[in-house]
Amino acid sequence: MTGNNSDIQKKLIDGRLIASEIELSISEKIVELKNKGIVPSIAVILVGENPASVVYVRNKERAAQRCGILSKKDIYPESLTEKELLNKIEELNNDPLIHGILVQLPLPSHIDEKKIMEAINPAKDVDGFHPLNVGKIFTENASFYPCTPYGILKMLDYYDIPVKGKNCVIIGQSNIVGKPLAVMLMNRLATVSSLNIFTKDVKSIAAGADILISATGKAHLIDENYVKDGAVVIDVGISNIGGKLCGDVNFERVINKVSKITPVPGGVGPLTVAVLMENTVKSALIKSGIKNKRNKK
Ligand code: NAD
Repeated sequence: MTGNNSDIQKKLIDGRLIASEIELSISEKIVELKNKGIVPSIAVILVGENPASVVYVRNKERAAQRCGILSKKDIYPESLTEKELLNKIEELNNDPLIHGILVQLPLPSHIDEKKIMEAINPAKDVDGFHPLNVGKIFTENASFYPCTPYGILKMLDYYDIPVKGKNCVIIGQSNIVGKPLAVMLMNRLATVSSLNIFTKDVKSIAAGADILISATGKAHLIDENYVKDGAVVIDVGISNIGGKLCGDVNFERVINKVSKITPVPGGVGPLTVAVLMENTVKSALIKSGIKNKRNKK
């Protein structure tokens, strides 16, 4: 890596800092709710023991504790049936003390994820994956926006990185990151390219991006040849290489070219969790009547 440490620091998008500011702002709203006798609460369902999922659930639980959100964790064995999970969701849908329901993905292959997402009450869908909320991204009036894409927009806003008219290239088109993010950037009048594993010449398309977002899960896929001078690079990927977390981006090889970049860890991940907390508090605020559904921010 070339460039001195302070040059690198200036280029970093500090996800932990932004997340802590979001947590602070929602803590104030939580006090307001608690004064009305309402404790925002989230139910987190984990099926099986996928090691990455166990870590994600733990991070969400810790964030909830920090903010003063009640977090109720339900852990089930891999053998849980789809019907049993649907029954559990129905119970949580009807529980007036639960404001947010999160089913940690991926689910075991015998459970249909789409069916599960559709079963969650859209008013408690704090992950923003219910088709109703997904559809409402188009019209910009979803109750909850998916946490990772919304967190990325918050990062860009925090550093005053303009989006309108910019070439935004998103590598990866999952339902939880790439696709909703593409629409959310289009809503802000960016010129968006969505790339996937079958895209021809990913490298040259990526190299035209003003803002390059990579969400593939392919460790160190992105090197200097994928990055235009002065580009903003958002690394969503999380891989575990020899016990060490790394992203899609080969940080050391791109740092001299980028104007801004997210580190892994400490970039997109903390924002995803903070937005989940924010969505949970928003759900409680809407239910309490303090906040109107359409009042998004
Ligand atoms: P996914 O795993 O469902 O799909 C990967 C996508 O990348 C697909 O669209 C695939 O076609 C594309 N892809 C894979 N290799 C490619 C290549 N060489 N060139 C072009 N496209 C390629 O996607 P996901 O669930 O969005 O997860 C992606 C990564 O992001 C994973 O590492 C995941 O752990 C991470 N993730 C991180 C956060 C966070 O908060 N930081 C949140 C969600 C996902």
